[in-house]
Amino acid sequence: RARLNRGDSWLTYDLRNLLPGETVDQDAIDELETQLLLADLGVAATAQVVDRLQTMFDGGRLRTRRDVGEALHEHLGTLLASADEPLTIPDHTRPFVILMVGVNGAGKTTTIGKLAQKFRDQGLSVMLAAGDTFRAAAVEQLQEWGRRVDVPVIAQATGSDPASVVFDAFSAARARGTDVLIADTAGRLHTQANLMEELRKIKRVLGKLDEYAPHEIMLVVDATAGGNALQQAVAFHDAMGLTGLTLTKLDGSAHGGIVFAIAQRLALPIRFVGVGESVEDLGPFNAGEFMEALFD
Ligand code: GDP
Repeated sequence: RARLNRGDSWLTYDLRNLLPGETVDQDAIDELETQLLLADLGVAATAQVVDRLQTMFDGGRLRTRRDVGEALHEHLGTLLASADEPLTIPDHTRPFVILMVGVNGAGKTTTIGKLAQKFRDQGLSVMLAAGDTFRAAAVEQLQEWGRRVDVPVIAQATGSDPASVVFDAFSAARARGTDVLIADTAGRLHTQANLMEELRKIKRVLGKLDEYAPHEIMLVVDATAGGNALQQAVAFHDAMGLTGLTLTKLDGSAHGGIVFAIAQRLALPIRFVGVGESVEDLGPFNAGEFMEALFD
């Protein structure tokens, strides 16, 4: 299993360092607020946590560094309640369709390759659909992953209708009794509105093939993008109705706090975290482990 924090760059924002000195005064609470913002918690999640700490401080319930640590742990943990829901593939849904969305460079293709390997390791058969028909390189990259993890890739020529690619792939997957179909999609078109319309069309087409498909609409976001990651998550969720998230590049310079910002704003399951470029560098998100990695 991939570890959460491979390098030590985001340990710079290890919550141990956020805790104030031995005496807890108003300055310490203010400093904590600054540190949470620097750790990418975002304005709303920071305010929510600091308000609660402030109330406790005003009530004389935060006297020591340890009190602050415990309160922070509790309130941050609460923010992650909705995030802690792993993706499971039910036995009766075939093919289980995962529609992958996200801006270019977020790590969508890499995550698809890693996921395909993960499902294969669980004994499930997998098929990929090359739904980013906007960029020739995207199709080639997906085909490369298909060879690497030994799963079939359904593709059409550059410029063809992505909904038609996904339709073909679904039909092929159903005919072959494939367990999991993972569909790549474009991360950029001429405009954002075009992109969202294209994604909604793919979703509609899938819904005609199986009323519950896509069974998962997973946004891939780059955790190092900070506030932009949150904005992307909100935009895709508004347009598509996401059912889960994968946060990539948590091994890099990401501050980890973005996990709380997204959880607070969208209350969506964080399914996986990416912690490197290799195929094994994807782990299920686990709120308890994540909190431990931040505090221990
Ligand atoms: P896409 O445009 O969203 O499909 O993004 P790609 O899958 O092509 O990934 C963009 C870059 O990010 C590539 O260089 C990947 O190797 C890298 N990448 C993807 N996921 C991770 C991750 O979890 N950690 C690190 N360090 N790099 C990643």
